[in-house]
Amino acid sequence: MLRLALIGKDVSLSSSPEIHTFILNRFGVACTYDKISVPPEAFHERAKELLCRYDAFNVTIPFKREIVPYLNGLEGDASVFGAVNTVLSGSGLGYNTDGYGFLLMLENAGLKVKGKSALVLGAGGSGRSCIKKLTDAGAEVFATARTAERLKTVYEEIGGFTPLETVELRPFDLIVNCTGIGMHDTVGQAPSVRFREGLVPVGRQLLSLCSWAVDLIYVPAQSEFLKIAAQLGKRTVNGEAMLFYQAYMADCIILERTPNAAQARAFWEEYKEGKA
Ligand code: NAP
Repeated sequence: MLRLALIGKDVSLSSSPEIHTFILNRFGVACTYDKISVPPEAFHERAKELLCRYDAFNVTIPFKREIVPYLNGLEGDASVFGAVNTVLSGSGLGYNTDGYGFLLMLENAGLKVKGKSALVLGAGGSGRSCIKKLTDAGAEVFATARTAERLKTVYEEIGGFTPLETVELRPFDLIVNCTGIGMHDTVGQAPSVRFREGLVPVGRQLLSLCSWAVDLIYVPAQSEFLKIAAQLGKRTVNGEAMLFYQAYMADCIILERTPNAAQARAFWEEYKEGKA
């Protein structure tokens, strides 16, 4: 029986236990999966305990970077992003599967990103991974952030994209909301973007210029950002499938299995059907 957990500031509403249990069951593996909400000041104490108590664990906001000093090393995307969402306690190694989940979500939605132009909103943890994954997959990436300094740091660290201090109204194949605005206490709000005139919430003007609107959030299923895009007849994708696919990849790492995109998609379809 695998002992697993998720640690974050408030993971009380997380569906990770259901998702991981579902995926691991499909692989014929039984598990327990605990949700551990920890205030930032108590993280130090709990991080060490997690490494002893669980075979592996997942890490979410705001501890994806904070966990790094407790680990023996970082693998793959985690070493590029300096942020971890999956830890194997035995080896003490950290992994980041968000980027895998993001690209597979787009691909399975029918969006091939190679050669496409993408505007990424937000330069936090997920903004950084989306920018990197999109550039690596051959998209022409533009990114903008509320705080210019943060965007500059991401540019210096990963490069390969065009940082926009202010956004010009021009067509983009896809616009990706990586700000988290639209969920929790910001339901009904759209992320702000800096135009030459100042910082304003994304609206019809910008979204009318894209073909796809992608939001990493999934509660509510249709954020304000996606609602505006859908009203304009745009293709929309929320982050629910990404959450599932990053969990699938994390479980493949835990079980030392080779991930398979078709299998991940079949599992997702079955999971979704079971929830409907
Ligand atoms: P983060 O590191 O806190 O970054 C958030 C970014 O959004 C920052 O650049 C922040 O700018 C910007 N921002 C905040 N409020 C804004 C506003 N009103 N207008 C414009 N920009 C604003 O968070 P994260 O880790 O990247 O996560 C972002 C969201 O993605 C979260 O909601 C998370 O749940 C979601 N996510 C989903 C998945 C999935 O599997 N579906 C995976 C990862 C993340 P400042 O620097 O100026 O504060």
